[in-house]
Amino acid sequence: MMLLLILVLFGIPEYRYCAPAYIDPDTIIKPEHIQRDVFELKDDVTRALDPRPPPEVSDQDAQEFLNDLGFLNGTYPSDEILTRADHIDGDAIATALKQFQKLYQLPESGLLDDDTRRLIAAPRCGLAELNIVPDRWTKQLLTYKIRSFPANFDPSTARHLIRQAFQQWSQHANLNIVEVSGASADIYVSDEPALHRDRLGQQCIFNRNTTLAHAFFPEVGDIHFNRDRIYSEEEFLSATMHEIGHSLGLDHSISKSSIMFPMHIRYHTEIPEEDRAALQALYGTRRIFKQSIPSATTKNTLKPPKLCSLEKIDTILNDYHGQIYIFAGEYYFALGERNPTGRPISTKWPRLPANIDAAFTCRNRKTFFFKGSKLWVYADNQLEAGYPKLIADELPGLPNHLNAVYVTKAGSILAIRKKHYWFYNPNKRPQVSSHFPRLIYDFKNMPPNMDAALFHTDGSVYFFKNREYFTMDMTNFTVSAGSPLEDKWFNC
Ligand SMILES: [Zn+2]
Ligand SMILES: [Zn+2]
Repeated sequence: MMLLLILVLFGIPEYRYCAPAYIDPDTIIKPEHIQRDVFELKDDVTRALDPRPPPEVSDQDAQEFLNDLGFLNGTYPSDEILTRADHIDGDAIATALKQFQKLYQLPESGLLDDDTRRLIAAPRCGLAELNIVPDRWTKQLLTYKIRSFPANFDPSTARHLIRQAFQQWSQHANLNIVEVSGASADIYVSDEPALHRDRLGQQCIFNRNTTLAHAFFPEVGDIHFNRDRIYSEEEFLSATMHEIGHSLGLDHSISKSSIMFPMHIRYHTEIPEEDRAALQALYGTRRIFKQSIPSATTKNTLKPPKLCSLEKIDTILNDYHGQIYIFAGEYYFALGERNPTGRPISTKWPRLPANIDAAFTCRNRKTFFFKGSKLWVYADNQLEAGYPKLIADELPGLPNHLNAVYVTKAGSILAIRKKHYWFYNPNKRPQVSSHFPRLIYDFKNMPPNMDAALFHTDGSVYFFKNREYFTMDMTNFTVSAGSPLEDKWFNC
């Protein structure tokens, strides 16, 4: 009885700052540190560019990686395992890291910073050679034969994905590529152990199980998949398209949006424009018989809705160009035109589902989408490799089933669900302090059950609920009365 009385009087510990319902929320005295956490809007130059914690990468991992790529010893790896260069000192590693960072357009810190860790930890292509004199196939009809399939797929799935990967390339150039089952083919595709041999009997090696595959330039073109790797279908399709790029004569690219970027940091479902252009430079644009390609996007037979007909929105975001998008159901709407028409979400953000809970774009240009327990991250409208992932793993401390999020100038995340909010600071551990969740009545007049939130480039924070929007006054954290969406957003 005593315990019950204590619980009634003081509340459960997690909610110790929450106001009981009979107290006027306006009278809550907010702890100073919460105010600082939530309302700090100064730019912080030391803040992490990305709110997610970086992957674990030890100094030894980094040294092996730099060695594999030839940054430490100044050579590309040969076909034997490189000796671990234990005598290499910190200065040499810092210099090699700087070279790596310069090549991949990261800040040249010489340190294992977050973005450098992300690249080092990513699965990658095992090809370390360059197609110095661009070799190309001298014929237009190429054949491939699948000698063995990656063990974690059934053969029909793997065959379908491989065919899809070849077609994605061949539809753009003056090439036709067909599978054959006979004794000989131009390109042999196979699943290989760590140590294996190439077509000429030379030793061939996968250094680690984060190596996805490697391939040979024309006019060999063989593709070897790493038998020790458990691929997802998304990863396998993307990796196969990358290796076919080599089989057709393309080198690695330092552009992160290219399918020929050596680290698999994004999932590709089609060939990006820059890679189509590189292929067409070798083979010319397509002028021979057409192949029909199954579309990656779902076709929609319903008439797309008009923005002004929406009763409510799911979420709103502004991308790094400042373009604002509204999401509702399976459609997105680009603001700026008069009464925009919905377009299927998956045509702009491949693999993103309908009915998104919340979204924002960070200063590193990446867009984060939340739905249920999962998070999708896009860069240049390409899904990052490995996504969707769990919110609990990627942004620890934030809950599932969010209603609205926005990211502050300082790179922190304010997340709202029903009548609670959480504040995620990527530079603190834990990122979400034990003071959260708190009631949204910390923000005067904020209604519960928001649909969406936006930190606009005009410097204001807006909230959305049904057909109304609300503006937050940043000087006293008071939310305005609702105004009709037509007044500012819908342009009906
Ligand atoms: Zn490659
Ligand atoms: Zn090989």
